[in-house]
Amino acid sequence: MTHLRDPIDNVLSGVGKRFLGQLKKLDIKTAKDLLWHFPTRYDDRSEFLKVSELKKGGEATLRGTVQKTTTRRIPYRHLVITEVSVVDEEGSPLTVTFFNQPYIENTLKEGRVANFSGKVGTYKGKLTLQSPIYELTEIRGREKETQHTGRLVPIYKETKGITSRGLRFIIKPILENLEVLPEYIPQETLKSLNLPDVNEALQNIHFPKKEADALRAIKSFSFRDLLLLQLRNLQERAKLQKLEAYPIAYDQKELKKLFSFLPFELTASQKKSLDEILNDLERHHPMNRLLQGDVGSGKTIVAGIAALVAVNDKHQAAFMAPTEILACQHYKTLTKFFEEYDGGIALLTGKESKVFYGENLEAELKKSELIKKIASGDIGITVGTHALIQKQITFKKLGLVVIDEQHRFGVRQRAEITKTTSITPHFLSMSATPIPRTLTMTIFGNLDLSLIDELPKGRKPIITKLVDPTNRDKAYQFIKERIKSDRQAFVICPRIEESENKDQVFTSKQKAAWEVRAVKVEYEKLSKEVFPDLKVSMLHGKMKIAEKTAVMKAFVEGKCDIVVSTSVVEVGVDVPNATIMLIEGADRFGLAQLYQFRGRVGRGEHQSYCLLFTDSKTENTKARLESLIQAKNGFELAEMDLHLRGPGEFLGDTQTGTPDLTLKALQNPELLKTAKEKAEELLQNSPTLEAYPLLSKRLNQFREEVHLE
Ligand code: ADP
Ligand code: MG
Repeated sequence: MTHLRDPIDNVLSGVGKRFLGQLKKLDIKTAKDLLWHFPTRYDDRSEFLKVSELKKGGEATLRGTVQKTTTRRIPYRHLVITEVSVVDEEGSPLTVTFFNQPYIENTLKEGRVANFSGKVGTYKGKLTLQSPIYELTEIRGREKETQHTGRLVPIYKETKGITSRGLRFIIKPILENLEVLPEYIPQETLKSLNLPDVNEALQNIHFPKKEADALRAIKSFSFRDLLLLQLRNLQERAKLQKLEAYPIAYDQKELKKLFSFLPFELTASQKKSLDEILNDLERHHPMNRLLQGDVGSGKTIVAGIAALVAVNDKHQAAFMAPTEILACQHYKTLTKFFEEYDGGIALLTGKESKVFYGENLEAELKKSELIKKIASGDIGITVGTHALIQKQITFKKLGLVVIDEQHRFGVRQRAEITKTTSITPHFLSMSATPIPRTLTMTIFGNLDLSLIDELPKGRKPIITKLVDPTNRDKAYQFIKERIKSDRQAFVICPRIEESENKDQVFTSKQKAAWEVRAVKVEYEKLSKEVFPDLKVSMLHGKMKIAEKTAVMKAFVEGKCDIVVSTSVVEVGVDVPNATIMLIEGADRFGLAQLYQFRGRVGRGEHQSYCLLFTDSKTENTKARLESLIQAKNGFELAEMDLHLRGPGEFLGDTQTGTPDLTLKALQNPELLKTAKEKAEELLQNSPTLEAYPLLSKRLNQFREEVHLE
């Protein structure tokens, strides 16, 4: 009997090493991984034709009894032809031909009944099936359930060396031999939705008898994850309601004073977000809020004001950033705007520790001393990296924690910072990742949302153009002129796709290699042929960190005119002098990604441009790129992208640990609603889920698996 946790090496003992290796490349290591590698679609091979009904060029499935099998070799051509003569149930004969598979003789022996499924061709002037998929329908006189023919046949994501046929071949016996899986979703819930239990669903998602079975199975798996997501969200919200936080008060006069420090007025959505945050801070329960806004929309200042409000009310605030550079940037922003503030703003990273006491009073001090000052409550705001969550750091009265680019921090690290206090601080996460609202509300449904959906006034919009391939030279000419007037340019290349098979998946290593190749080719062309007089450099993921840093540094310092790069251009780079973003193969990128590339320019006073190139002439491509030109902000665009390409594009499954199916299900508002209702129902019956021990256990696992924050 096979158990889910069994490693595939044990389960597939008869399977070749190479095949196992390929499976592992797909991250399939256990029986569970294999069984949860769901088909992406099904081919309907359920209808049997008779020989008299075959048409040249069509696809056909046919059942026949073998009359005779002969194999002959064609000398000098390394060709072995096996001809299998069969008759269908009406007695009409047909010759089925196979090339270089002489062992077929041993299987398709006289008298055996088999299904054949494939393309109808001609051979010696007669109709034939050429190298079809074949499968015996009886074993030792007993009818056997088929896997590849005469039914709905599952088609899987394929990779080199792993075909759908191969996967069916190994999945089927495992399913037949599988332990009975415990069902963690309560029977009443499944029944009320007419969904199959996990055992039935697993059989039917791979080998459905009819389409309706497949659809129910898919729905059942989608529902499972959505239910878990909703349960997590609701439970986390309920948990926070029980925790105690310091209520942080603000008064309008103080707030006005803080505003007066700023050289600009907050935008309407900054004000609205700040309002939402300050209202949360007044409550006795911890805030758990996500502040979303495009790059440059001014999130830092909103969070900064919230931090100052906390400090004014005699609390401390911590400001965490994922990298050293960002931490320093935040520190600089806060100390620049609030230089009259003398409550102490500290910077604590792996490298630096210093405190700012207003009016240019900045002191470097030993890390240990800074830590002491934080513990004694001397420091109001501490900005830092992971260094902030080291064991030895404690706060006296931590009221607010701000976390920038929150998805890069694990839940555990977040818990870490609150370990020392019985009072939970308020949490504010910030993110510039343009995730559509519909997704955010589920995936981050445990958080409340504030959205900054406009840029500060006075920014020059970036002129975005879809350039016709015939105007390529003109575009290069334009770039030359801009660079003559001292501007700089980015050129982004997509990887070269190697395969036309859309079901094929590639390993990230393969992808990276192609990307590098594309960049090298483009770099050669631009540096030698197009811009021989300009300084062109290259940036890609295979370079050492020091090399990358050197290239970026030269670019920042204006010592290089053009950087040709893969999609990995540093997130944090801020080069106000770069005003041109040229994107090759623009159709290969998701809209959200294109949007982020474009965000690298338009940061300075000069007019910026984004030039899009594509070879694709389809309406869909045009419509997508057109929406990049139209969209008002990243979120609107992400919403469009969701409809055009599906959610996997910005929430790759590797990033979230969320399987494809769930991502698709997130687009199904009906199912989302149902999942939420059922989650509420279950929690109403049993707030801690103790009545459903299996579900409760699964939910805990799920939390570990899915790192969404
Ligand atoms: P992000 O949301 O990407 O973190 P920042 O907070 O870094 O954006 O803000 C980007 C820039 O815009 C900063 O230089 C900041 O000072 C400036 N800024 C923020 N809010 C406004 C505003 N309302 N008007 C003008 N400039 C602003
Ligand atoms: Mg920011």
